Order: sequence, then C-alpha cells, then structure tokens
Amino acid sequence: MILALAGGVGGAKLAAGLAAILPPEELAIVVNTGDDFEHLGLNICPDIDTVTYTLAGIANPELGWGIAGESWAFMEQVAKLGGESWFRLGDRDLATHVERTRRLRDGERLTVVTEALARAHGIAHRIVPMADDPAPTIVHSDEGRLAFQDYFVRRQCRPRVERLELAPNVRPSAAFDALIDDPAIEAVIICPSNPWLSIDPILALSGVRDRLRARGVPIVAISPIVGGKAVKGPAAKIMAELGIPVSSAGIAAHYRGFVDGLVLDMADAGDMEAIAGVRTLLTGTIMKSAGDRARLAADVLTWVRQWDSHPAGPISVAKA
Ligand code: GDP
Repeated sequence: MILALAGGVGGAKLAAGLAAILPPEELAIVVNTGDDFEHLGLNICPDIDTVTYTLAGIANPELGWGIAGESWAFMEQVAKLGGESWFRLGDRDLATHVERTRRLRDGERLTVVTEALARAHGIAHRIVPMADDPAPTIVHSDEGRLAFQDYFVRRQCRPRVERLELAPNVRPSAAFDALIDDPAIEAVIICPSNPWLSIDPILALSGVRDRLRARGVPIVAISPIVGGKAVKGPAAKIMAELGIPVSSAGIAAHYRGFVDGLVLDMADAGDMEAIAGVRTLLTGTIMKSAGDRARLAADVLTWVRQWDSHPAGPISVAKA
C-alpha cells in the first residue's frame, strides 16, 4: 500500500494519478487540514474538498478549487445582504459544507464525515484527514499574526511571511495513526504540494515525522517547484521571503533528513548536482491532463517499488 500525503491542488492531481493506477486497497491519501476554518457558521476543509472533487472528476480546473460549472446565487445573495463574501462558496460546494457541518455537530468525527462524502461521490479510494481535532496553521507576517485563510484568500498571500506557526501537540486522526503502523505500507509519497503550507502541518502532528521515518520504507517527495517557479500558488514567494533558494534544491534542503528521494522535473536537471544525500528521479512533473497525472504516478511508483534493486544514483525517466 502507498501512503500519499497531500495538500490541495498539486496534491490532488498526483493523488488522482495514483488512484487511476492503484486499486482502492493499495492507496491511502492523507490530507492536510491546517487550512480548515469556520466561516459563515460552516466547517470548511479546503484541501479535503479539492482532493475529493478531483478524485470525483468534478473539480474546477480554472479556479483550482470548488466544483466545475458552479453557480453563485448563494454568494451573490450573501454579498447583497452585506455579509462576508471574500471567501467564495459556490452553490453546489455549499452543500458539502452544510452537510459536513451538520454531521460534525451530530458528533461524527471528521474522518467519518470525509469518508461518507467521498463515497457519495463514488470514490472508492481512502481520503483520510490528517487530524480529527483542529490544527490551524497561523501565518506570522509583516502584517502581523494571521489566520491561514485571512492570509491566503482575504489578503491573497500579499503579506510577507516571516514564520509559520503549526498547531502544537495535535494527534493524528485515528485512521492516519493506524496507517502509520500498517505493515502493508510499502512507501510514503509526498505529493507536489506546498511543503510549508500543506505538508509540514501533516509532519508536525505528534509523533508523525519520527514514526514515519522509523518505518524504514522509502519516503519520496515530488518537487512543487519547476524551473525556479511554483506551478501555482505562493510556494516560490514564501521560499524567497524565508531566504530559501527558489529551486528544487531548496525543496530538497527543506525535506533533508526526512525524505529518501526527490522527484524533479526535467527542467531542473541542473539542480541535481546541488542535491546531496537523497536519490533523485528526473521526469516530467507538470500535470495538465489525466494522462500526465497517471504517467507521473506510474513513474514514481515504479521508482519506489524497485528501491532496493536499482542503483542509488540519479535516475532519468524519458518524458512522455
Ligand atoms: P493548495 O493547498 O491548494 O495550495 O495546494 P497544494 O499545496 O497541494 O499545491 C500547491 C503546490 O502544488 C504549488 O507549490 C504548486 O507549485 C504545486 N503544483 C501544482 N500543480 C503542479 C504540477 O502539475 N506539477 C508540480 N510538480 N507541482 C504542481
């Protein structure tokens, strides 16, 4: 079984690629909940929803969040009434948050609610929240201490990030906890998500980093930086603000001591020399189509499944 760690957009795309080639019992996708918040009285889990909608094949490709072909009557009415409209919720998407909120208030755990919503979309693969308890990420910036969505959506990542504060002492969800010890886990794949905003919150949960390392299975990450730029979102801006080189070598430095391997895009072949101490796989990592997702997933799977039999040096896979 493959344990995939994912945030929203980049994570969801590779998760969908893995789901396209692995049967449900051979994949578990653990998703960041550090972006979750309560808004308009609703429990909103942006990354879980992006992964769910992407696996269900209904994600909005233009926005990178929400459902394709949405209507916005609810949001327009909220704005008309003078309500908060900076965080946009489409009409169909709204149903997800209403139903999740109802079930959580009835006492169901987020894990159970997430599973039920995934099943309702016909998804057979496991989508597991990293935690059932809140684990909000706080952004310390030149505009002060900001709640995550205040930084990310309301201020559109404009403030200069000084430091990220991850929730301390939060336990992984029971389902994630059980997965960490599951003898069937053969590798951990860190999707090309934002390392600071999407992956670190997962690794910062109590015991997670050390317990995953102790498993002794290959842990590999796919770089979200391609050609010195983030494919989408603020990863490159945050790296620059934190004084980290904006490159796949910078990503390798961030994950040093935790990952055994890094997957880089062909465009970053020049970074390979600067990456020491981990194996590297060079392939096409830009996922524009379903075919791209499945091909990258297959390349990474082949790599980790032959971990002990192939040489420890850099490997290059011919680009499709
Ligand atoms: P968020 O929670 O919605 O911000 O999503 P993630 O953290 O999962 O993904 C954001 C990261 O994914 C960004 O740093 C992007 O550069 C990266 N990303 C998005 N699409 C791709 C892609 O097709 N290939 C690669 N290599 N990275 C991608």
